Order: sequence, then structure tokens, then C-alpha cells
Amino acid sequence: MSMSKISTLLDRIYESDLPSGADLEQALALENQAELDELFGFADQVREKYCGGGIFLRGIIEFSNFCDKECFYCGINKNNRKLSRYRMKEDELLKSVEYLASAHIKTVVLQSGEDQDLDPLWLKDVISQIKSRFGLAVTISVGERSAADYQLWKQAGVDRYLLKMETLDEDLYNSMHPKMSFKQRLCCLDNLRKLGYQVGTGNIIGLPGQSLKTISRDILFFKQGNFDMLGIGPFIPHQETRFSVFPGAQALLVLKTIALTRIVTKNTHLPATTALGSLDQDYRPAGLRCGANVLMPNFTPQPYRKLYQIYPGKKCIDEPVGSCNFCLESMSKENDRFIDYGQGDSLKLRKVGLNV
Ligand code: SAM
Repeated sequence: MSMSKISTLLDRIYESDLPSGADLEQALALENQAELDELFGFADQVREKYCGGGIFLRGIIEFSNFCDKECFYCGINKNNRKLSRYRMKEDELLKSVEYLASAHIKTVVLQSGEDQDLDPLWLKDVISQIKSRFGLAVTISVGERSAADYQLWKQAGVDRYLLKMETLDEDLYNSMHPKMSFKQRLCCLDNLRKLGYQVGTGNIIGLPGQSLKTISRDILFFKQGNFDMLGIGPFIPHQETRFSVFPGAQALLVLKTIALTRIVTKNTHLPATTALGSLDQDYRPAGLRCGANVLMPNFTPQPYRKLYQIYPGKKCIDEPVGSCNFCLESMSKENDRFIDYGQGDSLKLRKVGLNV
């Protein structure tokens, strides 16, 4: 495609309230270096205009790898009997939070598998303590729960919730999530929004059966939902899963999806995910150059960190806890950016209910 045609295509996507799926598919298919430079450069300008040069840090603590679900791609799925399971104790978790706070990080993400044995009152107490002792922004990512649990945690002071849809193709979703339902997951997202959470969702790029058409549908959903945060990461095959035989994602397709998501959503927080850093090379700097504005250092202590293997080759699995700041500072400087040690709340105007 000529440069002027690409520029017209990207302008149309950027300016439209709801871009056409065909335009997004065409942009996702861009291949040669000059075309990609145009796309990534455009996304980078949109990021600069709507989000500025700061990179927000979200410190993640993976406090349990118990999971009741059987997702075909995920290494901590219930059927992986080779994995030792753990649940961090409250004092261990709070110690990790203290460490994270001492590294000047202002947001903690508490993540676990979908564990119905997780006591909502236990988590409520943890949240209250984090709020009163450290005053951090808190994001929870523990999967599908009742509206009552979401409300309990919101009342305890949680700010944000991360629940990825993984794909917005209902049949594809249902085909790889046994005993789960696409509609139920959507309903959870809607409950979270109604309760006033800052809501994050996202997808996995490179899932078997996915196409440029389904990815363009994901991007349209991201636009319509006006989400506060969107996590877009590559599929990385794990040997103890049903999907072990499939090839992993191409980094380039992930970067193109991040770039287009930036162009359509303007000011949504987009992480350069740890999974993007865990491919054949670390693609997080490339992610930061095509629209991303968030990094997620890992504060899960050993020996648990090694056991939260949702995919193999996870970045920094052997690093000492808290060694991230220096590395992330240099990554940001090398890309003419800076770490913003603020809380990094949503840049969206608040809305109630999913607008889809
Ligand atoms: N259980 C919570 C939930 O479902 O929201 C959070 C934990 S789940 C393990 C966190 C994320 O890991 C998922 O949303 C999914 O996108 C990602 N994930 C799992 N397996 C993966 C794989 N093989 N490759 C890339 N991402 C994967």
C-alpha cells in the first residue's frame, strides 16, 4: 500500500467514532517495514498526545496459583497435576506489598487463579490493610466472582479490576473455556463497571482459531467499552495444556494490535505486558514505542514466583524481588520516556454500565 493510502486509512480509523472492521483488518495486515513504521509512529503520537511521556508502574503479586478452570492455554489450569499449588498467607502478602511500596510503586495488582475457595472476607481484610497501611491503589484480578464479592471488595476500597475477555469471538471463547460462558464473563465486566471500578480487560493474540477478523472485533469491543485499561499479550504455548501443540504468537501481530488499540481508544492505559517481554526477545520496548504506557514489575516472592507459570519462559522468573526498578528506568530512558511514580488512575471520564 502506498504511504498516502496508509496515512488516509489510519486517519479514518483515528477519527471515526466506530471504525469499520474492514479498515482495522487492513491495518492489521500491514507487513513491510515502511508500512509498520507509519502505523507505529502514528500510534506513538496518539499516545504522546493523550497520555504524555510517562510510564506507569503496576507491581503485581501473584498470591495463589489454585485454579478451578480448565482454560486450554493456561499453565495453571486445574488439570495440570504436575504443578505444586500455593496460597500466600496474609502476612507474607503484606510483606510483599510493603516491599513494593518501598520501591515507590503506587499500584499493587493482586492476582490469582480462579479459586472458589478464596475467602472473600480474607481478601477484604487484605485490601483494608493495604489501604490503611500503605495507601496504594489496588487492582484485583481473581476472575469471575459474584456481584456480592465484587461489591464487598469495592467497599473495602479496591480501585480497579482486571478481567480479560481473551477473545471477543463468542464461539472461539466457548471452545477453549470448558464449563465457562462468554456471556457470564461479559456480565461480570458489566457488574464491575456498575459498581464503580476502573475496569480493565484485554485479549490474547495468536490463539488457535483466531484471525485478523476476530482481532479486529476485539479492537472494536475495546473501543465501544471505553475501558480504563486493556492488556494485550501474546499466546505462549505451555506444555501441560491442551494447546501445547500450537505455535505461539508472532510478536509483530501483538504490536500491531497494541498500536491500533491505542489509535482507537486514545487514552486507555495499555501495558507492554510481561508476556510480550517473554518471547524470543524482550519486545516490551517495542510495545512502548507503538502505544503502550504501562509496565508491570513482578513482586511475587520466591518460591511462589516460579510456580505461577501461566506460560513458560516468563520474564524475570529468577530475578530477586524488587530488582525491576533499575531495569525499567533504563528501558524508559532508552526510549526517551520516564517512569511516572504517580498512582496512574484512569484517564477516562467515568461512565456506568458497559457501552456495548
Ligand atoms: N484468573 C484470573 C482471570 O481469569 O482473570 C487471572 C489469572 S489468569 C492466569 C491471567 C491471564 O493470564 C489471563 O487473563 C490470560 O490472558 C493469561 N494467560 C494464561 N495463559 C496464557 C498463555 N499460555 N499465554 C499467554 N497468556 C496467558
